[in-house]
Amino acid sequence: MDTMIAYCGLDCSQCPAFIARQDGNDDLRRTTALEWSEQFHIDITPAAIDCSGCRAPGVHNPFCGTCAIRACGMERGVANCAHCPDYGCEKLLKIFAADGHCKNRLDEIRRWM
Ligand code: SF4
Ligand code: SF4
Repeated sequence: MDTMIAYCGLDCSQCPAFIARQDGNDDLRRTTALEWSEQFHIDITPAAIDCSGCRAPGVHNPFCGTCAIRACGMERGVANCAHCPDYGCEKLLKIFAADGHCKNRLDEIRRWM
C-alpha cells in the first residue's frame, strides 16, 4: 500500500491516470481529460492521462510531472514525505489544505514507522 502513496499523500492506485494506464482504458483517458480540463482550466489531452504512479519514472500527467513536492522527495531519496525529517514543511501544508486525505494517509504511515 505504502508504495502507491505519492510523496504528497495522494493515493495513486485510485487515480484515473494510473487506472487508465493499467487497464489500457482510452474511454477513461478521454473522460478524465475532459473533466480535468474543465476543473483546472487548462488543456489536458487524453494522452496525458497515463501514469505509472508518483514514484515511477515517466509521469506524464501535467500536474504530478512538474510537482515540487515530488521533485523534493526524489532529491531527498525518501519513500514519501511521511519518511522525511522535515515532514509538515510549507510545500506539504499547501496540499494538506487542499486535500485533507493526503495528510491523513501520511499521518497513518508515520504512526506505523
Ligand atoms: S498522475 Fe500519477 S503521480 Fe499523480 S496521482 Fe495520478 S498516478 Fe499518482
Ligand atoms: S521537505 Fe517537504 S516536500 Fe520535501 S520531502 Fe520533505 S516533507 Fe516532502
